[in-house]
Amino acid sequence: MARKFDHLLEKHNLKKTAPRNSVLEILSTRDVATSQPDLEGIIGKDIDRVTLYRILKTFEEKGIIHKIIDINGTANYAFCHGDCSEHHHQDEHIHFNCVSCQGVYCINDVSIPHINLPQGFSAHAISMIVSGVCDKCQSSSEENA
Ligand SMILES: [Zn+2]
Ligand SMILES: [Zn+2]
Ligand SMILES: [Zn+2]
Repeated sequence: MARKFDHLLEKHNLKKTAPRNSVLEILSTRDVATSQPDLEGIIGKDIDRVTLYRILKTFEEKGIIHKIIDINGTANYAFCHGDCSEHHHQDEHIHFNCVSCQGVYCINDVSIPHINLPQGFSAHAISMIVSGVCDKCQSSSEENA
């Protein structure tokens, strides 16, 4: 039986395995980026830690997901929505890290401003994290007030 993400895996010349499908399924249903420990918690014992690490690394290299290092230094992963391809990510949106729920959001509508680097410097990647309180935490604190 064909699984939901077989087509995507095929497109990237990846073997269609159940663990890879599960990881994509989970990442696609969450509106925040997900860290490896969180994924482990959701998946349980079905996928061991090393396999999960390799899956995430492969997906990142293939341009399927991108990594966001949050304000605590933890790596979080989210689906790429741009024109990312193998070894070439174009996720030039900012990320928002909520200090209350720790959620890491892709703010796809806001691009990273152009940065003028000194002569001789060439940028390969750029990331921008805004920390603060997300809309969900904002409204729940209003309710409790
Ligand atoms: Zn990407
Ligand atoms: Zn929040
Ligand atoms: Zn993102």
